[in-house]
Amino acid sequence: MARTALVTGANRGIGFEAARQLASAGLDVVLTARDPEVGAAAANDLELRFEQLDVASDESVRACARRLERDGVAVDVLVNNAGVLLSGGILEVDDDLVRDTLEVNLLGPLRTARAFLPGMIERGYGRVVNVSSGSGSLTEATPYTPAYSISKAALNMLTRHLAFAAEGRGDVKVNAMCPGWVRTDMGGGAAPRSAEQGADTIVWLATMPADGPTNGFFRDRRPAAW
Ligand code: NAP
Repeated sequence: MARTALVTGANRGIGFEAARQLASAGLDVVLTARDPEVGAAAANDLELRFEQLDVASDESVRACARRLERDGVAVDVLVNNAGVLLSGGILEVDDDLVRDTLEVNLLGPLRTARAFLPGMIERGYGRVVNVSSGSGSLTEATPYTPAYSISKAALNMLTRHLAFAAEGRGDVKVNAMCPGWVRTDMGGGAAPRSAEQGADTIVWLATMPADGPTNGFFRDRRPAAW
């Protein structure tokens, strides 16, 4: 039976492309987005199931999980792709911008993990892919986009803790990845990579066999510096 993957923020950009590639790889894909109309249209384009899911809302995540459970859909693969990049210098930035960033980029993946990771552990199979960024690497840190970088560094640490929680509890893997600089609304038109290239490592991790890695951070299918 085909595995089921749920992708957050999949109405456009890298998430949409990851949903497309996962479906091409033979998975049943649940395309999710916070805007029901835009999301349903994107899912319709790819002939995928759509679910409304705003990662910034605990109630929205729980409601989505309840609808899937009611319909007997078990999520085997979770791609935490939804993200925001809000700009502001570190000494000028207001608290609300930092809070809004963490709400989506950090608490979003924590909420979806709470909703779907326990089921994976119970069934003994699961893949969680957190779409992070080189901006979140402590090793490669740059002065740009501080709130975003801080949120992605925190997402990397969340990845490690989720992997610890799944350790020794079946074939459940939790990894983070960086898609590189990708031509999307977030990345802008000057970025050197296509969404296809950006989504490649997501799909690689999402479909990793049992002997593959967990608790890692990857770019271009290779370990990246935390
Ligand atoms: P994008 O085109 O701006 O897409 C972001 C997606 O996240 C949109 O679908 C957006 O939905 C969704 N989203 C934002 N807040 C949400 C929420 N509260 N609930 C659900 N969905 C929400 O960006 P992208 O380039 O595809 O980025 C995808 C991921 O890759 C992000 O995590 C980003 O940080 C990461 N990344 C991107 C690059 C790059 O160069 N592009 C580099 C490194 C990492 P709406 O349409 O409703 O806003």
